[in-house]
Amino acid sequence: MPITGSTQLLGVIGDPIAHSLSPVMHNAALAELGADYVYVAFPVAVDVLETAIAGFTATGVQGFSVTIPHKQAIVPLLAELTTEAQMIGAVNTVWRTERGWAGTNTDVAGFVAPLKRQDWSGKTALVLGNGGAARAVVAGCGQLGFAVVQVVGRSIQKLADFKKSWVDSPLQASLTTHSWADLPTLLPTADLIVNTTPIGMHTTADQTPLAADQLDLALDTAVVYDLIYTPRPTRLLALAAQRGLDTVDGLEMLVQQGAVALEIWLQRPVPVATMRQALVEWLEKKAV
Ligand code: NAP
Repeated sequence: MPITGSTQLLGVIGDPIAHSLSPVMHNAALAELGADYVYVAFPVAVDVLETAIAGFTATGVQGFSVTIPHKQAIVPLLAELTTEAQMIGAVNTVWRTERGWAGTNTDVAGFVAPLKRQDWSGKTALVLGNGGAARAVVAGCGQLGFAVVQVVGRSIQKLADFKKSWVDSPLQASLTTHSWADLPTLLPTADLIVNTTPIGMHTTADQTPLAADQLDLALDTAVVYDLIYTPRPTRLLALAAQRGLDTVDGLEMLVQQGAVALEIWLQRPVPVATMRQALVEWLEKKAV
């Protein structure tokens, strides 16, 4: 579809943003659909966020993704927030409404998607890390029916703040927080182990948040999920596979959170397989 005077604008805001994979998957889907839209990356520094959003309001931007460092800062600039965005306290998808911009967080749907083939009710999840992505993971574990969600972090203060932030949520009752030193007692009880730390990504590709001897403590039936999508597989997932455990990497979460966002903007089903394929091809090309 050629870009013309009637082409509608979608995009992603962040800083830095040049590395974003979102334009690759969204434009592939838009092309497949023959939709008269284009999705571009907008570099938006922290101090110009409000100006940028006012600019989007004044011009024809139909909707946009939000990434680091704006996921929380965008919240006061929105007229409406979904329950999920309120629960997580962060927004990654914004769209126009008659009252102004509305925001949600599609990371929860993205995280949950590859786990839906299994019944997790009454099970135990172990979440490594307590940052932004861990919040979506905890909310997702709640949706999947986990009875216990154990979050491991390295800062006692941040863990306490994390626990406190769920105080008004029904998830509070199932949530416990722990230090990394507690892993020997936590690992043998976990049905799902999720890495939400950046350990093992890019420059730390030779590292893993769990060593082989720690993975030996895991249940034979445990599933190991790494939110990182490059490299594929991460060292953690390679070790887990060697140990005979089922693994899930972060690519499907990336694809599915994007697909939910595009459905919101276009109000129609989107070609998820095309989005996945575009990302896989792009990542393989970059790895050469
Ligand atoms: P974040 O908010 O910075 O949180 C990172 C967490 O990891 C924090 O709890 C941090 O601990 C912990 N951490 C960092 N380095 C550590 C280390 N060396 N040892 C122990 N803990 C460490 O980042 P985020 O936004 O949650 O993203 C985390 C990861 O998830 C990234 O790799 C990101 O690419 C990935 N992600 C993937 C998707 C997807 O769609 N697949 C979506 C979102 C995020 P402190 O709080 O103590 O610093």
